[in-house]
Amino acid sequence: MKQTSIKKRTSASSLKQPAAIIGAGIAGIATAVRLALKGHAVTVFEAQESFGGKMYQFELPGAYRFDAGPSLFTLPQLVDDLFRLAGRDPQDHFRYERLDPITHYFFADGTRLKAWADEERFAAEVEEKMGVPAADVLSFLRRSASAYEATESTFLHKSLHKAATYLSPEVLRAVAALPGLGLTGTMHQRHAKAFNDPRLVQLFDRFATYNGSDPYQAPATLSLIPHLEHGIGAFYPVGAFIALPKASWGWPKSWEWSFATMSP
Ligand SMILES: Cc1cc2nc3c(=O)[nH]c(=O)nc-3n(C[C@H](O)[C@H](O)[C@H](O)COP(=O)(O)OP(=O)(O)OC[C@H]3O[C@@H](n4cnc5c(N)ncnc54)[C@H](O)[C@@H]3O)c2cc1C
Repeated sequence: MKQTSIKKRTSASSLKQPAAIIGAGIAGIATAVRLALKGHAVTVFEAQESFGGKMYQFELPGAYRFDAGPSLFTLPQLVDDLFRLAGRDPQDHFRYERLDPITHYFFADGTRLKAWADEERFAAEVEEKMGVPAADVLSFLRRSASAYEATESTFLHKSLHKAATYLSPEVLRAVAALPGLGLTGTMHQRHAKAFNDPRLVQLFDRFATYNGSDPYQAPATLSLIPHLEHGIGAFYPVGAFIALPKASWGWPKSWEWSFATMSP
């Protein structure tokens, strides 16, 4: 097992309680950085030889490289935040580009669709290729945006394990807004109600994969996910996803990393 220590150049006496993190995936790396910035001496234990967890890459003979895990980057500002917290310019360490088109959809009946970054262009593409009115697509995406804005601060930025989260006025406002947004029932029911075309229902059902859910069972609140790609933007790291763990590897020079190999 690889053991990595991260500590800020702080005198030993000013360090707070030491912290141990199991796993150097993006969650472990982000937590290590945040704890180290607070003055804890952090040790990350990783079973694999390299960082990144599911964000790894494999190569085939020739010039072929494949991302084995994530392939689409949403909410990149959360990664930028890590660098800024450490007083660094993220652009010096890690870059990404907005995708347009975001993705290409291929259907069994031969239909091909480009998911353009611009919502209106995407809606026009759906109307042209599927005959679904662009206004229906835009109305659906605007509802996704409203649901996202009503729930983001509570469900993305606060701990769901703290009672205080549930007692805040924001949560009450978010819960009160949900029925008006048509977010009762399952994700699939929500999409089937919004669109008559089964291909479009299937397209929006696929957003359940964001957290490994089944759209036939997952709650309709997850229909806010398309807003991440179509409203906020879909990105891809320069140098592929492996660039992210690599950037943390060569973490800013004011950090000390040390490596030790331990038996599992
Ligand atoms: C095929 C695929 C496609 C995906 N596509 C996307 C996408 O397009 N966009 C997106 O945002 N997300 C995507 N994801 C999800 C994303 O990759 C994960 O949510 C994220 O990488 C998980 O990070 P993590 O740190 O929580 O866990 P992991 O990356 O799983 O890291 C956990 C680490 O802990 C280590 N570990 C576990 N147990 C121990 C132990 N006992 N001792 C020591 N080390 C241990 C593991 O070796 C691993 O390195 C995809 C995932 C997969 C698999």
